[in-house]
Amino acid sequence: MSRHAVGKGLRQRAVHLLALQYGAERSGPLSNVLFRGSTPTCFCEHCINRNKTQGIDVERAQTGFTNLLSLIRNAEAGKPNAADGMLTSVLRVLHRYPEVLSWDYQWFQADEEICAQVHRIAKNVRPEIDSGRHVDHQRSSWDIFYRSAMTYGEMAENADFVKPILYHDAMGTRLRWWVLERLKDRLLNELTLEQSLNLFYSTFGHDATKLPKLNELDSAGLGPEYVYRETLRCKQSVGDKAKVYTGIGIDVPWYVTNGMEPRPSNPEKLTAAVQRAFDAGADGVLASREYDEMRLSSLEAFGRGVRR
Ligand SMILES: [Zn+2]
Repeated sequence: MSRHAVGKGLRQRAVHLLALQYGAERSGPLSNVLFRGSTPTCFCEHCINRNKTQGIDVERAQTGFTNLLSLIRNAEAGKPNAADGMLTSVLRVLHRYPEVLSWDYQWFQADEEICAQVHRIAKNVRPEIDSGRHVDHQRSSWDIFYRSAMTYGEMAENADFVKPILYHDAMGTRLRWWVLERLKDRLLNELTLEQSLNLFYSTFGHDATKLPKLNELDSAGLGPEYVYRETLRCKQSVGDKAKVYTGIGIDVPWYVTNGMEPRPSNPEKLTAAVQRAFDAGADGVLASREYDEMRLSSLEAFGRGVRR
């Protein structure tokens, strides 16, 4: 049953959510290659058949992905980029092997079809339940391939609600260590971390003057303005097709010497993050992630935001 508490109307309505997640925290092959240097997947018989049916040449897609992976492997090994630079080299592969983009898009399409199917089955069995979509942090906040392939509005066609994960504290450390540092060793190895952060802020529609600088990301997180901006984007795309429940991060863990441990949220920022979600038009908020990670004082700060 529910692992979250639902915020808006907390007192009026206790909601139990049946959580059924399938592949919601993964991304497509292009993201895996260019951002993480992972081997692109999937080339199983089902994916091959699906792509063939769409008229996509399997061998050319594989060659294109192989070429991209070797560019990234060189960058990881610290070898200097070709005279043309990394981005030009990547775009050259995409021009010559557009099957790479087609394959990537089919991954997102297949993912979307599964979610739509789960939604239809759930509603057939229990028409009165709310069935919705968990949009994990990479999908909601930094994977540009996911963002460009799949809109919130399209998800809302097959959902009663969309729940973007917008953990304002955790986004600081995650942006620094899961995004910028990984890109620095790979796709954006010609940029400094500061340049890469500015590129992120500007291309993802954030106002850099309201957000932390590189050396503040770990301690400050991204803050309530990030929650506002991303909730607004979701709401504008979803419109009236579904509800938007913003996932607010409370004491979300981060790595310490002995593994992951909850990091206490600043109570004022937490209250403000909830308020900014509602300012942007959220229909509700979810106290995330796990109840056993949260301190009662943080839940009180979350509650203050809901009540205001
Ligand atoms: Zn497959």
